[in-house]
Amino acid sequence: MSSAAQYRPETRLVHSGTLRSQFAETSEAIFLTQGYVYKTAAEAEARFKGESPGYQYSRFANPTVAMLEQRMADFEGAQACRATATGMAAVTAALLGQVKAGDHAVAAKAMFGSCRYIVEDFLPRYGVESTLVDGTKLDQWRKAIRPNTRTLFLESPTNPTLDVIDIKAVADIAHNAGATLVVDNAFSTPIWQKPLELGADCVVYSATKHIDGQGRCLGGLVLGSNEFIEKHVHVLIRQTGPSISPFNAWVMLKGLETLAVRVERQTQTAGKIADALAGHKKLSRLIYPGRADHPQADVVAKQMTGGSTLIAFEIKGGKDAAFRFQDALKLVLISNNLGDAKSLVTHPATTTHQRIGAEARAELGITDGIVRLSVGLEHADDLIEDMLAALDRA
Ligand SMILES: *Cc1c(COP(=O)(O)O)cnc(C)c1O
Repeated sequence: MSSAAQYRPETRLVHSGTLRSQFAETSEAIFLTQGYVYKTAAEAEARFKGESPGYQYSRFANPTVAMLEQRMADFEGAQACRATATGMAAVTAALLGQVKAGDHAVAAKAMFGSCRYIVEDFLPRYGVESTLVDGTKLDQWRKAIRPNTRTLFLESPTNPTLDVIDIKAVADIAHNAGATLVVDNAFSTPIWQKPLELGADCVVYSATKHIDGQGRCLGGLVLGSNEFIEKHVHVLIRQTGPSISPFNAWVMLKGLETLAVRVERQTQTAGKIADALAGHKKLSRLIYPGRADHPQADVVAKQMTGGSTLIAFEIKGGKDAAFRFQDALKLVLISNNLGDAKSLVTHPATTTHQRIGAEARAELGITDGIVRLSVGLEHADDLIEDMLAALDRA
């Protein structure tokens, strides 16, 4: 296994973690196998006792999955990584793995719909109380802390309004209370933000998004110190079984090789689109981390090294106008997904955030005119022309 710590980040995304078989293949092999065989009964015994290195069963570990985990850990600067079947399996393992009945968790209320489900519905069902706060207000985090608070959870930038939360400040609040901080870094990607360096104890990804980046497979990743992963995540994943398929792990592994070039280009294009749309007469608001008029531009400058592949904007005229805009797009596709090579547009109020209800949406600033754009790899000018033409018809 090449541990490529001496190389620069983009080089590590291409080479770290490669396990070359006896055939010396250039591209990493897909080890599509459930199990492994042993030369002797004694070797099987030693393997199960942990006295002989090697694989036993692909729910526990698999060489293709191990390559993905090692490459990602290397890039993130984490001691340990575990891959999961989906991003939600990663979030669930990171949160459930830390708590027991009687504990308390705090989370920023602006988050991916299914994450809110875990915090608001599942944790309480198992005796873990949770408090939701406005993540951009540090006072609310401080006030929410109780003696039994075990973990804090946030995503930044948030979905879909792209608010930015001060990760270092929230990590300090967590640590002062003897709690941990888990950050969902899916929107930002490891290219632009490194939560562990900012003090987080655990970072999770939906690899489904930018890491695949071409809309093919689901996957998730949990990263942290050896201690965090061993104590909270390792056994839970092994024994409850949200393991990623080796095929999907391979797609993610190859996705990492092009992650930097894709995210850099998509971000550059998003910046051009944001500038082209800002101040448009059909828009009442445009939010782009990377523009000086972002509400938390100071925090963006402090903790992110680049902008975002996502833009949010509010179309005047509410749902009808937002629908007319989406339906008039010829190139940008209507989808609830993000991080794809194809540009995708979402109307959160009627899709991803339908479940939480009008009151919770109002609280999060998700009005009926808000549209989220995930910028792909098309030419910036084609996208800008498509968007401007569709806005004319909104
Ligand atoms: C998509 C997403 C998830 C869930 O990931 P899946 O791979 O769909 O399970 C979690 N958090 C964020 C921020 C996401 O964008």
